[in-house]
Amino acid sequence: MGKKMKISLAVLRRQFELYQDEYEEAALRVLRSGWYLLGPELEALEKEFAQFVGAKYCVGLNSGLDALTLGVRVLGIGRGDEVIVPSNTYIATVLAVTENGATPVFVEPDACYNMDADKVEAAITDRTKAILAVHLYGQSANMAKISAISKKYHLRLLEDCAQSHGAYYDGKMTGTFGDIGCFSFYPTKNLGAFGDSGAIVTDDPKIARMVHMMRNYGSEVKYHNEIEGVNSRLDEIQAALLRVKLSHLQELNAERNWIAKQYLESITNPAIILPPPREHANHIYHQFVIRTKNRDGFQAYLKEHDIATTIHYPIPPHLAECYRYLGHHEGDFPIAEQYAHEVLSMPMYNGMTKDEIQYVIDITNAYHG
Ligand SMILES: *Cc1c(COP(=O)(O)O)cnc(C)c1O
Repeated sequence: MGKKMKISLAVLRRQFELYQDEYEEAALRVLRSGWYLLGPELEALEKEFAQFVGAKYCVGLNSGLDALTLGVRVLGIGRGDEVIVPSNTYIATVLAVTENGATPVFVEPDACYNMDADKVEAAITDRTKAILAVHLYGQSANMAKISAISKKYHLRLLEDCAQSHGAYYDGKMTGTFGDIGCFSFYPTKNLGAFGDSGAIVTDDPKIARMVHMMRNYGSEVKYHNEIEGVNSRLDEIQAALLRVKLSHLQELNAERNWIAKQYLESITNPAIILPPPREHANHIYHQFVIRTKNRDGFQAYLKEHDIATTIHYPIPPHLAECYRYLGHHEGDFPIAEQYAHEVLSMPMYNGMTKDEIQYVIDITNAYHG
């Protein structure tokens, strides 16, 4: 084995350094313009991101959680309504439902970690209003089946695309299968800002107009408040920086794919389950998530060798302390619970060097599970 190295899970600074001049130019352009909110940079980003995704409209917001929460709200979903969500997801997906007073109904994941399309129909009741699919880790859920089910039962369909900027299914971009696609631009996401931000995309002009109003206190004309809105604006500096990153997103995703390819081809340790591909889908490797029986042991072993990893996610939402009132118990969603015990996200970031990748591969292959 080669020399000892120190590997982080993600190195955001390297992403910045890849296009440093462009970022600095964009930030300075905004600082010098004297216009900091709801201006030309946001408008341009919304146009460019809508085009990238293949949607008619994009509305920039303050975070991915806001995109999800306002997405659920704009569809009129609230108290007494049920929304089908995956049991294997980040808590934000579920918060968007409960924040609106609606009830999350969990569906177990398939072998690719996303909502198992074959288990969705069994979760539908006469209170079900929507399906909120998530494209976890950077790979689309089975959207052919999920959108067919949403049509068959006249359910609204939302997508949590916080981890899937540029991921598609059957050649169609995630975020465009249902009524609303919800994106986060949190710094670690594939399309990450240098602070908080998010957006929704939609083809429906009424939805776009409503979210447009909601994000700015419920008004389109200043001081004329048509609806009870919130403050959820994507600022001009973040918009300008995101435009730079968006212009390089395909390269950035391709680089992550290349890193994943090295892992997939060279990690041969039988104790490690590599991320399975889904038919008809690409993968943008927001996270490179492996599974192994003695996950905590493997993580500690990697740490001894200075390789940082993390767990996405250690506690499935139905067992989160804040959701005790939903009345779920250990054993209710055994697949999500098993994944929570077995998954581990390996180092994956733009600017990762060949030596760093090789070091992770060598140390992983030398592990005795
Ligand atoms: C990051 C993330 C969110 C929330 O996005 P924020 O911008 O942090 O609010 C929602 N869902 C998933 C799956 C995420 O990974």
